[in-house]
Parts: sequence; C-alpha cells; structure tokens
Amino acid sequence: MLVGKKVEKVFDKFKALDEIDIEIQPGTAMALIGPSGAGKSTLIRALSLIDPPTRGEIDIDGVIYRYPSIKGDRPPIPWPRITVVFQQLFLWPHLTLRENIELPISQIGIQDCWDRAKELIELFELKDYLSRLPYQASIGQRQRVAIVRALALRPKYLLLDEVTSALDVEQVSRLVECINRLRNEGSGVVIVTHLLGFARLVADYFMFIDRGQCVEKARITTLDNPVQERVREFVSFV
Ligand code: ADP
Repeated sequence: MLVGKKVEKVFDKFKALDEIDIEIQPGTAMALIGPSGAGKSTLIRALSLIDPPTRGEIDIDGVIYRYPSIKGDRPPIPWPRITVVFQQLFLWPHLTLRENIELPISQIGIQDCWDRAKELIELFELKDYLSRLPYQASIGQRQRVAIVRALALRPKYLLLDEVTSALDVEQVSRLVECINRLRNEGSGVVIVTHLLGFARLVADYFMFIDRGQCVEKARITTLDNPVQERVREFVSFV
C-alpha cells in the first residue's frame, strides 16, 4: 500500500499541503480533483518522494519515510515501483521516441515490459514516429510516448498528473483500458484530472483538494452527489 500520513508541504511560508491523509491500495485507483493551484501536483511529488513532504510520513509498502528527515539526506528513489507521468512529460530531448521508451526498460530488464511496450506502441499508434526526436513529434505523440514509457514498466504505483490534455477521445478510452488492466494486475493508480468522465471510468475513489486541504474523500460514485458544498459547486461547473 502507498500511504501518506499528515502530509504537509511548505514553500517558504506558504502551506501548499496541510495534513493530507491518503491511502492507495494495490488494485485500486484514486482521482485527485480540485481547482488549479489546490496542491494536487505537489501531493503527487510528495507521494513519489520526488519532492518529499516538509512534515508527515510516506509509507511505501511498509517502508516508512518520516519528515523532516533526521539527517536531511537525499530522498530515496522508489522508481520504477512508483512511476510518475507529468503534464510537462520530460522526454529526453537527445533520444528518439523509441529510445525514450526503451531506455528505462533496459534499466530494469524485465521481458514482460518489452512485450508490454510493443503492445502499447501498437495500441497508441506510435510505430510510424518512433525514429523521431521529441522536438519532431506533436505534443499528442509526445504525450502518448510518456504514457507508454510509464505503462510499459508495469509499476506497482502509477501516478498520472494531467496527462490527457493532448489526447483525443479514442486515445483517452485506450488509456482507460490500460489503467484498468494495470489495476486488475494489482497496481495502485493515482490520476490528477479535470475530466470527471475520465475519473469516473478509472477511479474507485476521489479526493477533492482545495487550498492544500482534503475537503472530501469518498467512493467515486459519490461524485454524483457530493456531501460537501464546495465539491458540489465544483462538479456543477465541469
Ligand atoms: P495543482 O496541481 O492543484 O494545480 P500545485 O500542486 O501545482 O497545484 O500547486 C499548489 C500551490 O503550491 C500553488 O500555489 C503553487 O504556486 C505552489 N507551489 C507548487 N510548487 C511550488 C514550488 N516548487 N515553490 C513554490 N511554490 C510552489
């Protein structure tokens, strides 16, 4: 299980996350929903230890990291167990799209991942573009490469931060298929999204965050009739 306990993140004097409690069970998916600037990406970075919390605890399958850390040492890198895709994608600019997908797989060297990559390249119709460098590809192609690169690793926890902006509806539905497959294989998934339809298709739970605080956490079906007025108001606009 991936657990964040009383996760707090402070930038200078600004509290971006305020005692957030979150649990991602293997085989389930959680949608993080809320207005822009609420703290969703900050929470993804904290859970993946890319930018650890100021205070609180991250528990990755029983290995617990407490903050502030006593030694202030460099955070551990729980990759590929926890794999993140950010909206900004971060492809290696000097490598072709194929190399971008293959380099991480070659690091972990699991045959299943090579097979999965081949399937995903077909599914997301990337075959004809693989020899291009990222700058020669459209945003949508790059977004699909970043998604394929992460999915192919079959991570125990997959965290997706607004990765559908350049996908068309068919590609979103293929992503839904892939996330559900990964979930059925026992992975835990977190998605940050403004697309409530997408959240409803893949998530078991949602957490609504506003100004760094958890406003409501419930089964995804509750999104049709949220308890908190703030959440009601938000979903009525989407
Ligand atoms: P969301 O993903 O919900 O749009 P973010 O997590 O990106 O929100 O940001 C939450 C708040 O924290 C925002 O006010 C943002 O400006 C601030 N913030 C995020 N990262 C940093 C940073 N590295 N330094 C200072 N402030 C930051």
